[in-house]
Amino acid sequence: MRRIIIAIDGPAASGKSTAAKLLAARLGYVYIDTGAMYRTCALAAKRCGLDINDDDALSQLMNTIRLDIEYHEEGNRTYLNGEDVSREIREPDISRLASAISAKAIVREKMVELQRRLGEKGGVILDGRDIGTVVFPNAELKFFMIAPVETRARRRYLELIEKGSNPDYDTVLSELEERDKADSSRALAPLIPAKDAICIDSGPLGIEEQVELLHSYYQTRIASI
Ligand code: C5P
Repeated sequence: MRRIIIAIDGPAASGKSTAAKLLAARLGYVYIDTGAMYRTCALAAKRCGLDINDDDALSQLMNTIRLDIEYHEEGNRTYLNGEDVSREIREPDISRLASAISAKAIVREKMVELQRRLGEKGGVILDGRDIGTVVFPNAELKFFMIAPVETRARRRYLELIEKGSNPDYDTVLSELEERDKADSSRALAPLIPAKDAICIDSGPLGIEEQVELLHSYYQTRIASI
């Protein structure tokens, strides 16, 4: 059976990474969390106190850091210069910084190159903001996942509680709104659905239903190739 490239884009906490992970396990595909890559760049910049508007310093950082993504069925493990930073990159301040740093051309250039190298052989599901529009515009199957912002904020809020944090719902909501606005309005690779993406509203669906739906689209697509 041909092993294709599946792109899942959408705003923060739209459910794309959980669905992508489960669909990948079901298909025996590799899942690649591209948001984790931008988060790792943000963490690297934070650790060295770098001003992300300093183009020379940012370029030097991007040419020297080593970023590795390891695929496991339960998700990706992310390494910065050999150190496992998978937990640290989930902190809210890193979410904000990731959004800011991902608007920079040098950062996108490096990450897109890495993503293409990891995905080019197929048998992969990548989730992000620009997979179907920029990274793999020829991906055989593209989804764009959405959900009302309140639903997404509630998901993120519960996730943070589960991780032992003590979040404030209104702060979580406004941070999501701000990040979506920044990601959608930036000049480079903005968050927009590819023309040929299938739009999925994950709001009313449970996770099993989401995966089932994506899988049914996969079956239809693979039968037509
Ligand atoms: O998906 P996640 O919320 O982890 O992504 C963190 C940030 O990385 C996003 O807010 C976005 O600014 C950026 N990102 C991106 N392009 C991608 C994936 C993530 O610009 N393909």
